[in-house]
Amino acid sequence: MSFNELGLPEAILRAVALLGHESPTPIQRKAVPIALAGGDLLAAAQTGTGKTAAFAMPTLARLGARGPHGAPPRALVLTPTRELAAQVAASFRDYGRHLSLQTEAVYGGVGMFPQTRALRRGVDVLVATPGRLIDHLEQHTARLSNVEVLVLDEADRMLDMGFLPAIRRIIGALPANRQNLLFSATFSPGVRRLAAALLRSPVEVDVAPRNSAAATVTQRAFHVDKDNKRPLLVHLLRTGDWGQTLVFARTKHGAERLSNQLEREGILAAAIHGDKSQGQRTRALDQFKQGRVRVLVATDVAARGIDVDGLTHVVNFDLPNSPEDYVHRIGRTGRAGASGEAISLVSSEERAQLKEIEHLLGRTLSAATVAGYEPTHRAASGSQSQPAGARRRHTQGQNPAGHHGHRRDAGGGRTHGRAHSPSRRGR
Ligand code: AMP
Repeated sequence: MSFNELGLPEAILRAVALLGHESPTPIQRKAVPIALAGGDLLAAAQTGTGKTAAFAMPTLARLGARGPHGAPPRALVLTPTRELAAQVAASFRDYGRHLSLQTEAVYGGVGMFPQTRALRRGVDVLVATPGRLIDHLEQHTARLSNVEVLVLDEADRMLDMGFLPAIRRIIGALPANRQNLLFSATFSPGVRRLAAALLRSPVEVDVAPRNSAAATVTQRAFHVDKDNKRPLLVHLLRTGDWGQTLVFARTKHGAERLSNQLEREGILAAAIHGDKSQGQRTRALDQFKQGRVRVLVATDVAARGIDVDGLTHVVNFDLPNSPEDYVHRIGRTGRAGASGEAISLVSSEERAQLKEIEHLLGRTLSAATVAGYEPTHRAASGSQSQPAGARRRHTQGQNPAGHHGHRRDAGGGRTHGRAHSPSRRGR
C-alpha cells in the first residue's frame, strides 16, 4: 500500500515524501483512514511503530488551513513527558510543513511566559503535558473551547504517572463535540476504563511493534519453588544456548545478591540498581554490551533505557509488580528482528501476578516445569495445592502430549510446548 491510497491531502503527501517515508506503517494504514473519516480511535501501538504520524497526519488534514490570529487550539495532544511533547510537536511541524498551521508544545520545567506568549499569538495544534496545561488553564492563558480533536498519546504511561485527575480536568474543559484518538502501548484495565469514558463508538486497531518483539520473542513461564529459582537459573544458563541475558530482580538487594551468587557459580555477572553510582552503572552496562559479562541483573528502574544489541534472553527472576512492566521488560530482547526469549520464573506466591500479566497480554503464557526443579508446594497448572504425584497426573491428563524433552506443558491447555505464537498485545 502506498501513502497515496490513504486519502491524505497532497500537501501532507509531499511532506511525507520529503521525510523519505516510502510506505505507511501498519498502524498508519489502519488508523489514518478511520481518523480521516472523523471517527474515534482506540489504538494499541508502541513507540517505533510510526504512531505519531498515524495521529498527526489525519489531524493536520482535518485542520487544513490556519485559524485566525489569536485563535485557541483546534487540536490538543496530551503526552506523558516533556521529551515526548517536544518530539510530537516536531513531528506535527514536519508533516505539516506545507500547511500554514501553528504547532506549539507546552510542558513543565521551563518558563511559562514564552508559552503564554505563543498561545496568545494563536495556535492550531497544542501539544502538552497534563500538569503544565492545567497551570495554563488555571491562569487563563490557555483556552480549550475550540478543540475539535483530542489525542492522548501513550495513555498507559500517563496513567502510570498519575495523570488521571489532570486528564479528567482537561477533558472537562473541552467541547463535548470532538474527535478522540487514544494511543497506548498496552491496554491495561485503567486504559480500558479511560477509553470507555472518553471514546464514542471507537474503532479499535492493534499492531505489532515494528522492532518487533511481538513477532520474535518467545515467552515462557517456568513454575518453580522460590528457593529453587537461583539453582534453576544457573542450570538454564549452563545448559541452554543462551547469549547475553538480562535478568530482572524486584529489589536492589535481590539484584546485588543474585549477581554475586552467579559470579560464585562461575557465571560472569554484574548488577545495576539504584544503590549503584552512575559511574558503576555505566561501567556495568558497558561490560555487558561488550560481552565481558554475560548476565546483567537489574531492577526495573535501573533498566530503563537499556538497549543492547544481541540480547537473546530476558529472565524475570521475580515477576514485576505491574503487568505493564512485564511488557517493557520483554521488549528488551527480540529487537530489530532478532529472535529472543523471555523466561519468567514463577513461584507459587506469584501466581496472581502471572494471571494479571496473562490478562493484559490476552493470552496464557506457555508454561512448563524443568525436571529436577519441579515445584513441591503447588500444582504447576492449577491454583489448588496438590501433592507432586497428583500434579503430574493432572498435568498429563490436561495435556496428552505430555513430555517435550525435559519439559512438560502446563499452560492451561492453550499452550503447547514452544510452538505458541507470541503476541505482546493485550486487548
Ligand atoms: P513513532 O512510532 O511515532 O515514535 O515513530 C518512530 C519513527 O518512525 C520516527 O522516527 C518516524 O520518523 C518514523 N516513521 C514514521 N512513519 C514512517 C514510515 N511510514 N516509514 C518510515 N519511517 C516512518
